[in-house]
Amino acid sequence: MNSTIPAKNIPTKALVVESPKRPFVLKDVILDEVRPDEVLVEMKYTGLCHTDIVVQEGAIPVGIYPAVLGHEGAGTVRRVGSNVQDKSLKEGDTVLLSFSSCQNCSTCKENRNGACSRMTDINFGGARGLEPSSSPISLPDGTPVRGQFFGQSSLSKLAVVSERSIVKCDASPEDLPFLAPLGCGYLTGAGTVFNILRPKKDSKFVIFGMGAVGLAACLAAKAEGVEIIVAVDIVDEKLELAKSLGATHSINTKITPDLEAGLREFFPDGVDRVLDTTGVRILQQSGLNALAHEGILAIVGVSRPGNTIEIDPLKFMMNCNRVIGMIEGEANPAQIVPRLVQLYRDGKFPVDRLSKIYPAGAIDQALEELHSGKVIKPVISWEDVQ
Ligand SMILES: [Zn+2]
Ligand SMILES: [Zn+2]
Repeated sequence: MNSTIPAKNIPTKALVVESPKRPFVLKDVILDEVRPDEVLVEMKYTGLCHTDIVVQEGAIPVGIYPAVLGHEGAGTVRRVGSNVQDKSLKEGDTVLLSFSSCQNCSTCKENRNGACSRMTDINFGGARGLEPSSSPISLPDGTPVRGQFFGQSSLSKLAVVSERSIVKCDASPEDLPFLAPLGCGYLTGAGTVFNILRPKKDSKFVIFGMGAVGLAACLAAKAEGVEIIVAVDIVDEKLELAKSLGATHSINTKITPDLEAGLREFFPDGVDRVLDTTGVRILQQSGLNALAHEGILAIVGVSRPGNTIEIDPLKFMMNCNRVIGMIEGEANPAQIVPRLVQLYRDGKFPVDRLSKIYPAGAIDQALEELHSGKVIKPVISWEDVQ
């Protein structure tokens, strides 16, 4: 395919969202030339993440529409910009795409890129900048399209990707569809366990929500040797899946609505680590109330605006408790993604059990099956798109 890719005005097909709440539609788009710090990637697979759907629904602004979303891309390098820092990167390399960060602020320099101070504008506003004319994507009639969402806009057969979103990876073609979501969903769950919560082997570790993030956290905790992992959800099938992946206890909050009491029944002295992936206020409050001495509640799920949880300052102080909010597990993709690929190869991070692959033309079915709970992680394949 490479010999046929022109230097500029590169035609390709992408799943375009015309305006907020409009569906993803496969359309012809034109890509700009690759700038010195960018890479042209031919996508093989793209995981669908909750954030894509929140933006498609218009709840998080991305500047202009139409827009191409997608931030869990996996594919092959087709062209390398003249000033890309990784001089080993070359045409034909397999890459996983992750979020972008400035790589220059104090948190980025500490390898906590997920906490980059410029996270929002770089990932939601487009890596080249906020002006519509700066986007590398347009419609054939010249209309600018929001691109480089999370540095990549990888719901596209070809994409002009910011170098800062690229992680080189020597995955085999059979593994690639399962590894695509490492760049966001799985990285968030695993990064929160490795970098923030750091449960000990005997910690009582509780996870709210058995979606892709919660199950990745469950796998990461199990890989770290944590002996007590409690899965909380409202769908029995998801709780069963969690148990088959390492959870030792489960609570269905439809059956046990008083979650704090449910947790105290198992652990009268409280729990050590709680990870909330749901953003549901009542669960967060129960998690906080159930914390043991030195217990930590980590919030990674998107909450509704105006949600608040109550803290008893005296109890909180005496118990040495902490509440932490974060995104992307404060991880550096260049470090955590290869670590997770290795865990996958060693059979300790079996994320192939979470996903289902859909052709790009079947994205509506993928979204429907995600909403109905039939699939944990839908992955779009670009194989049939020319
Ligand atoms: Zn930064
Ligand atoms: Zn995401």
